[in-house]
Amino acid sequence: ATPTALLVGTGRGAQLGLLIKGPEVLESTRRVDTVLLDKTGTVTSGDLAVTDVVPAAGVDADDLLRRAGAVESGSEHPIGRAIARAADQRTGEHPAVTGFAALAGLGVRGTVDGDQLVVGRPALLADLGLPMPTGLSGPLADIQQQGRSVVAVGWAGRVQGLIAVADTVKPTSARAVARLQALGLRTVLLTGDQRPVAEQVAAAVGIDDVIAEVLPEGKVAAVVELQAQGRVVAMIGDGVNDAPALARADLGVAMGTGTDAAIEAADITVVGGDPAGAADAIRLARRTLGTIR
Ligand code: ADP
Ligand code: MG
Repeated sequence: ATPTALLVGTGRGAQLGLLIKGPEVLESTRRVDTVLLDKTGTVTSGDLAVTDVVPAAGVDADDLLRRAGAVESGSEHPIGRAIARAADQRTGEHPAVTGFAALAGLGVRGTVDGDQLVVGRPALLADLGLPMPTGLSGPLADIQQQGRSVVAVGWAGRVQGLIAVADTVKPTSARAVARLQALGLRTVLLTGDQRPVAEQVAAAVGIDDVIAEVLPEGKVAAVVELQAQGRVVAMIGDGVNDAPALARADLGVAMGTGTDAAIEAADITVVGGDPAGAADAIRLARRTLGTIR
């Protein structure tokens, strides 16, 4: 294609709400055959709400939420924001936190009331040597079976409770998936969340395959593995932990509603946050470069 055609394509992208980093992006975009979609904040709204607070025996539910919310007040993750908001609503002003650190795609930690807290995926707490009291295993399984995400809260050498959050799929996601499939693309849900949750979401919107419970490095590894199989891979995401995969993919598409890290790493940003923007981009690239089908 001529430089002029590419520039025209980029301009047409802007009309579709696509911020395309440079005209050359369209070249790799048109060859994409596989699309990886992040779950939270990409296929789902990411407007999470806390649904359950389950303290271990001897722990006060409000104290559990108050402490977890304090640590999460420093988090950019949708789960963290939901927990911080619920804590503020239910328990008022949160206590001071020192030593806050976000462990991308895993959880957060910080010191509250003299205790070192960890809030994150249950496997993270197990890895850190914070065991789950037996009384919490039943509630954990029940919540996961219902398709909700659950995080564990630990301090003083063990898990002190669970907090469940519910998310909803974006009203635009099923149509976006159908459009990607109509372009001949294979769709894969790629998430750090637990498998039962991922499978419910994939089924709800018609996504072909699921890769769940991946660590942040696992998202890049999934891209690299597909590329090694000769696939040309697009990644659609919004989170800090999606950024390396967005950068590595042949086409990285960030949700405009996402984090700065994701937007910086991506080739294209979809202003409104509709994952169908990826289908618009691929269609536009094929059309601009004369390979529309
Ligand atoms: P997704 O791939 O769906 O966007 P992430 O990879 O961002 O999900 O997160 C994976 C898991 O890590 C979450 O389901 C949660 O268990 C845990 N996690 C990540 N960030 C946080 C946080 N701020 N607080 C608690 N748990 C978190
Ligand atoms: Mg996400």
